Amino acid sequence: MIYIEKDIENHPETLEIVSASNTKIKVIKDTAKLFKQISTASDPIEAGKKILLLSQNKGPFLKKCPGTKNYLCCGYKILHLASFCTMDCSYCILQAYFHPPLLRYFVNTQDMEKELDTLFAEKKIYRIGTGEFSDSLIFEKHTNISARLTEKFGKQNHCVLELKTKTVNIKNQLRLNHNRKTIMSWSLNTEKVINTEERGTASLEARLNAAAQCEKQGYPLAFHFDPVIIYKDCEQDYKEVITRLFKSVSKDNIVWISIGTFRYIPTLKNIIENRFKNSKIIYGEFIKGLDNKMRYFKPIRIEFYKKIIDYIKQIAPNVLIYFCMEDEQAWQKSFGFTPEQRGGLSAMLDKSAKRICNLQ
Ligand code: SF4
Repeated sequence: MIYIEKDIENHPETLEIVSASNTKIKVIKDTAKLFKQISTASDPIEAGKKILLLSQNKGPFLKKCPGTKNYLCCGYKILHLASFCTMDCSYCILQAYFHPPLLRYFVNTQDMEKELDTLFAEKKIYRIGTGEFSDSLIFEKHTNISARLTEKFGKQNHCVLELKTKTVNIKNQLRLNHNRKTIMSWSLNTEKVINTEERGTASLEARLNAAAQCEKQGYPLAFHFDPVIIYKDCEQDYKEVITRLFKSVSKDNIVWISIGTFRYIPTLKNIIENRFKNSKIIYGEFIKGLDNKMRYFKPIRIEFYKKIIDYIKQIAPNVLIYFCMEDEQAWQKSFGFTPEQRGGLSAMLDKSAKRICNLQ
């Protein structure tokens, strides 16, 4: 079911989405009523994934990635054009982030384009992604927004767009004038984690095939091992994923690979326990970090990082690997240096984007 807020009933993008859809449509005057309906469902998270609310974003579309206190952040910008997700991963932070959790798409994309124009006019390097509050490619059957953004970024030379996904919805991305300013990016995990913790996502094989197809179309690529779930003999499984990754795509076309071990805010624990009864991911050796998130005990994280970084570096010595939300000590012990010693994490990522995406 698609719900449309009354004030955007006749917005051109609403009409486009409605005409492309064969789902039931309902125009609503009172969004609070819908929120209440979702919040009081037996599983509000599941209920929020089954509907789509079209509305306006009355705030800014471009946001600074919130990062996490005391952990090194990469200076990324989030393009907030949608919220929540149709897929269902046990560890997904969005389950605990939105109140109520509800699939929502903002139709006032001209406002978003104006914000982008202002940013582009700065002629500075920015890394911008749509895959933080949602998956970048889940709205492909409703809108051509990713293609529009790809072509828009392709007309300038300072900023890159990252489309991060666990889908293989790349059809609209093929044969676009992207000018290498869009990075097609996939979250990867072991077969075991994908099969047990990531409901409704594409298989590993399908993700790697989609990445290879995008590479053929000239797109730069990125990959995210996040969240890494530590389990018995997991290193072997992650190494297998890495081997398959480099058999599928060229190491020289990868802008970055991020690694982040599973972390969660305490409220997510109850959600996982209730919604994913067979999941074991919350029963590892966790301690509360400086940001109040639960993380694997640091020596366990570092031991994993060292092995995986070493394995990636054996195959692709020049590829940029970074941590999402780790502290300087974890960097020093795992990589042998801190981002500070290389000009900062932001500068390291900018440099790689500049080289591989031909930024100016
Ligand atoms: S694909 Fe990403 S956004 Fe969607 S449920 Fe999984 S973790 Fe959340």
